[in-house]
Amino acid sequence: MTTVRTVADLRAALAPERAAGRRIGLVPTMGALHDGHAALIRAAAAECDVVVVSVFVNPRQFEDAGDLAAYPRDEVRDAELARNAGADLMFIPNLDEVYPTGFATSVRVTGVSETLEGAARGPVHFDGVATVVTKLFTMTGPDAAYFGRKDAQQVVVVRRLVTDLNLPVEIRAIDTVREPDGLALSSRNVRLTANDRSRALVLRRALQAVRTAYESNARDPEEAREAGMIPLREQGIEPEYLALVDPDTLQPVASMAERPVLVAVAAKVGDVRLIDNELLS
Ligand code: AMP
Repeated sequence: MTTVRTVADLRAALAPERAAGRRIGLVPTMGALHDGHAALIRAAAAECDVVVVSVFVNPRQFEDAGDLAAYPRDEVRDAELARNAGADLMFIPNLDEVYPTGFATSVRVTGVSETLEGAARGPVHFDGVATVVTKLFTMTGPDAAYFGRKDAQQVVVVRRLVTDLNLPVEIRAIDTVREPDGLALSSRNVRLTANDRSRALVLRRALQAVRTAYESNARDPEEAREAGMIPLREQGIEPEYLALVDPDTLQPVASMAERPVLVAVAAKVGDVRLIDNELLS
């Protein structure tokens, strides 16, 4: 596995692969890699001949400077994990390579980016995601790109972007990888205190309570949502959102007849903002 840091070197490395007709897979990440990222890389390696893992902590998608500054970084460990999972090339550009002086373009996906994370974090977040993902696609030219279902809305936004801009890349969504106790793996988990680490399990319990209510006694989606609020309140956690939405439009579901339903939650546990979701099909 080799590491490249410039777009010119990335393109030079990929040109012969493309010319030989090899399928190129891209796994965009912000580093601090864990088994969730490894699952994406393994999926890419199973379906592609050449796997590129990008590591770029994108300042444009952080609305909170403190969150950006606290974001964990460990390039040596990342390279080791990526190689073991089947990566061929690491692309680790610095800030100037992605956003050189004078950079003035932004990609905005309206509609699906405006609910849930977009509402909680503000429009800056998905503008930043859409802009950097577009750039990573044009820099790399992948045949397929791999994203995690943990960021369910991100997958919807990226699919919209790819359709709207006619980008010739197939978007693949990979199931959420969890700790044995159910906590979704996240680069932010390392920042949880021991006490908050156990409190964080309530996100999953809330999603499961919504599922149980939805599948049994709830009369309407709001009642199912209320069932999920109970364990959160018990932990003294007020979520930024706990929502039952259509998985394609991300608009709230109006009736119990609607399936599939995406149940999504975001909450701060201590200082750490966590998200999780579950699909009821
Ligand atoms: P990040 O480095 O957090 O931006 O994540 C990079 C990619 O890994 C995104 O597509 C995430 O959705 C995905 N990802 C993050 N955590 C997980 C997880 N626990 N399981 C599967 N994919 C994940």
